[in-house]
Formats: sequence, C-alpha cells, structure tokens
Amino acid sequence: MKKGFTLVELMIVIAIISILALVLLPNFVIARHQARLSACQSNIKNISTAVETYCSSNNDQYPQNDFIVDNNSPLYNYIQKDIKCPLIKEYYEYKINTTGNKYWIYCPTISNTKKHKTNKGIITKIYLDNVEGLKIEY
Ligand SMILES: [Zn+2]
Repeated sequence: MKKGFTLVELMIVIAIISILALVLLPNFVIARHQARLSACQSNIKNISTAVETYCSSNNDQYPQNDFIVDNNSPLYNYIQKDIKCPLIKEYYEYKINTTGNKYWIYCPTISNTKKHKTNKGIITKIYLDNVEGLKIEY
C-alpha cells in the first residue's frame, strides 16, 4: 500500500485549485463592487431625503451654497452621521444651480482615479438631481 500523494497527483490538485480561483475571483471582485455601488446609491438617496427635509423646514428653500456633505454641512442636523462613499471613503458633494431650484449630489469618485465598476464597465459619474433623480454615466 502506498502512502501519501505522488507528485503528479499533487500537481493535478494544484492545477484544479488554480483554475477554480481564476474562474471565481473576478466574480467576487464584481460582487464586491456591486455591493459598494448599491451602498453608494443608497447614501445618495439618503442625502437627497435630508436635502428635502432641510427644504421643508427652511421656507421651501434648498441650501443655497455648494458644500461637501460632511459633519459641518447644513444637512448635518438631518443626517447626523458620517456618510461617505464606501469605495473611496470620502464625502459626497452638494451643488446648487444659480436660481437655487435645482441641486446635485455627487459621489466623490467623480474627482478620484478610483471609480465604481460594474459588469457593464467603469462608472465615470454617479449623481442625483432633484429633477431627474439618480443618474449613472459610463
Ligand atoms: Zn460612490
């Protein structure tokens, strides 16, 4: 009776494990990206809800200046926690148009080299405005 594995048997096992890793790893990476993207979209919607709440308790006026949505922002009373993009751990940006009736909330990846990815490709912009809602640009 032989003991242990032969070299050939070990090499076959290693080859099978390598092939499995090659097939599965990209799926894990995409799944992680997808989870972060979903969390980011949910963050943007939550900030938008805070903007609308701010608006209804400030004479129907949106915040009138651009700012970073951090713990010094006018929205902080309506959010009360740090909301950062889960991909790059940075704060979102709020921008308002000159007439003060349209705003945008941008994911900070617009000005970062690290971008959200999906199986459709790299996302260059992810933002929400109060007119058209959440938008994703590839
Ligand atoms: Zn993001």
